[in-house]
Amino acid sequence: MGSLALSRVEASDQPAPSLVDEVGRIARTALAPLAQAIDDGSVYPGEVLRQLGKVGAWASHVPQEGPADLRCAIQSMAAIGEVCGASAFMAWCQNTLVWYAANSTNVQLAKRFGDAFSTGRLLGGTGLSNPMKSFFGIEKLKLKGRKVDGGYVVRGALPWVSNLGPDHYFGTIFEREDDQGTVMFLADCSDPAITLTPCKPFLAMDGTGTYGVQFRDAFIPDDLILADPAAPFVKKIRAGFILLQAGMALGLIRDCINIMDEVQSPLGHVNRYLPQQPVHFRDLAAELEAETMALARDPYNADETYWRKVIALRLRAGDASVAAAHAAMLHCGARGYLKSHRAQRRLREAYFVAIVTPATKQLRKMLADA
Ligand SMILES: Cc1cc2nc3c(=O)[nH]c(=O)nc-3n(C[C@H](O)[C@H](O)[C@H](O)COP(=O)(O)OP(=O)(O)OC[C@H]3O[C@@H](n4cnc5c(N)ncnc54)[C@H](O)[C@@H]3O)c2cc1C
Repeated sequence: MGSLALSRVEASDQPAPSLVDEVGRIARTALAPLAQAIDDGSVYPGEVLRQLGKVGAWASHVPQEGPADLRCAIQSMAAIGEVCGASAFMAWCQNTLVWYAANSTNVQLAKRFGDAFSTGRLLGGTGLSNPMKSFFGIEKLKLKGRKVDGGYVVRGALPWVSNLGPDHYFGTIFEREDDQGTVMFLADCSDPAITLTPCKPFLAMDGTGTYGVQFRDAFIPDDLILADPAAPFVKKIRAGFILLQAGMALGLIRDCINIMDEVQSPLGHVNRYLPQQPVHFRDLAAELEAETMALARDPYNADETYWRKVIALRLRAGDASVAAAHAAMLHCGARGYLKSHRAQRRLREAYFVAIVTPATKQLRKMLADA
């Protein structure tokens, strides 16, 4: 746990400001100078992620004797996302990894990794895109596991997993070869049977430590099993997994509003003819934030209505990110068309919010099927 108090303001839907402020300060001082290098893929900000972990950025959503509260984690990610969308995504990867370990009933695993992940001593992410798509009937599971003494032997490949490096961990799921269901586990990237292959350059997110991961008969011991069977565990953690992504959207939208404000003085006389103005996005961001904060207080709510609200919010967050970045481009004009201007980075980052699992099309399918 970091040095700052993580006390929560129960009376309102706003989290305690101290941690969010400190995360924002680190983002502005340590991340902002790296944002362009992270964007072009020449820097993976592992040191800053560790620094953020030391002040408690990855710990506030760890459940305390029962309930969990994601508000502070989401606001902290928004503060990071206001500076750098790729870093907000890595923050989500780390927070999700913490979320898995914190919810696991494997006591040994929780003891060994709980603090290491939540303090940022160990970094990592999540390989749940393929399982999340498979659970909603979009594609088949890509990892297969065979039961052996003391664990499983896993084979298969995942095309993209982010916030990885040689000593990182991530949570993912395999299907048992004996048709006995699915199992969720922690993959240890230092295992020689697990290989990381750099991906082809992306439109954005190149500094996020994203790799293709291959499992070549990797032995996964029982003490790396997060949940066996995986299905009830996924049902417990899925709302948190999705809600935490709102931090990426909120930070990005806030900066798009900043960008529009910055060009108000030189270009306001003509920008006022554009249909979408900063005031619209201020209202939209306030609405999204209020809805997110309300849902984030109760991530274990098993109600179907609650789940539907989470999906609908996530869909709106992706749409709003793309709309805000599009408006920022139009407000900036040629200034934003320069490669050195962050408006075009914001546009590329916004599309990621809309395509990362659960992608816009998956969310629409989930709402249609519900
Ligand atoms: C930069 C980046 C980082 C990501 N990080 C993670 C992560 O940390 N964890 C995680 O689980 N997922 C990660 N993903 C995957 C992401 O969450 C989505 O699953 C992905 O963007 C595709 O989702 P979709 O629903 O639009 O599927 P679609 O684009 O419709 O794709 C469906 C399927 O087609 C196949 N496919 C399509 N293009 C390719 C390709 N170029 N190479 C191999 N297979 C392909 C894959 O099986 C894919 O699941 C990342 C993706 C990107 C681009």
